Amino acid sequence: MTKDDAVLRMTDIVAKFVAFTGKRLPDDVREKIAELAGQEEEPLAKAIYQTMLKNQELAQELNRPSCQDTGAIQFFLKCGANFPYMSELSGILRESVIRATKEAPLRHNAVETFDEYNTGKNVALGIPSLFWDVVPERDDCEIYTYMAGGGCSLPGHAKVLMPGEGYEGVTRFVLDVMTSYGLNACPPLLVGVGIGTSVEVAALHSKKALMRPIGSHNPNPRAAKMEQLLETGINKIGLGPQGLRGKNSVLGVNIENSARHPSVIGVAVNVGCWSHRRGHIVFDKDLNYTIDSHSEVDF
Ligand code: SF4
Repeated sequence: MTKDDAVLRMTDIVAKFVAFTGKRLPDDVREKIAELAGQEEEPLAKAIYQTMLKNQELAQELNRPSCQDTGAIQFFLKCGANFPYMSELSGILRESVIRATKEAPLRHNAVETFDEYNTGKNVALGIPSLFWDVVPERDDCEIYTYMAGGGCSLPGHAKVLMPGEGYEGVTRFVLDVMTSYGLNACPPLLVGVGIGTSVEVAALHSKKALMRPIGSHNPNPRAAKMEQLLETGINKIGLGPQGLRGKNSVLGVNIENSARHPSVIGVAVNVGCWSHRRGHIVFDKDLNYTIDSHSEVDF
């Protein structure tokens, strides 16, 4: 395969995958929504979950996005340093978003800041967002795709806590954000919490936490315990589906972290909505690919 052919092939596959993820939720999200729906007894909460299920069925049947807000597209990359298309990758991803926008179709969500015009292609300065992790000695490329909608981006907050606030301060911050803004993001929510030494580190961790599957746990047992405690606490708010009250508020709570300066804790919250359109595709060096976020892929 020539390099030009390879670029065309990868662009085609990523475009189709991005379009597909707008129409079908990942397996873990579908399973968790079904589980939470089964726990509701109030008629309104049950009816909303039934509507979500119907929405998913119709999106597939009619070949349309499952939510009108198909978001600003973000890519989280774990790419081997020896992946043969590293130099071409940012161009491939940009072009794939333009293609997906036409073919899905996706709503036009890229507005140039200050100039205030919509490009109509879902690409603009810094959109799609690319977050790179380059992995030494590997020649494959993992790509997490994400549709960052307006409502689910709205609760995003980050802060560096005052010395001495400790993990109690982290808990207070997360619960303050959830009680103030959780309602706006179409619950039940996947809550990503990032902890690190400064605000930008924590913010990136909090978004990467949303790429982790529902039901996975932070490898540190204390952090995993905090995930569980926060999940229990946020569920007690009882946001329910679409914030109209119910037994649960969240699909889960994922914490990602790194070490920190001894006197401060940087903490951030990001959330994914019930329509959490995350995909995971891995290309090998010959552009064979595997998808593990979705078991039924039809493109
Ligand atoms: S929060 Fe999610 S489900 Fe609600 S409108 Fe935004 S993208 Fe759609």
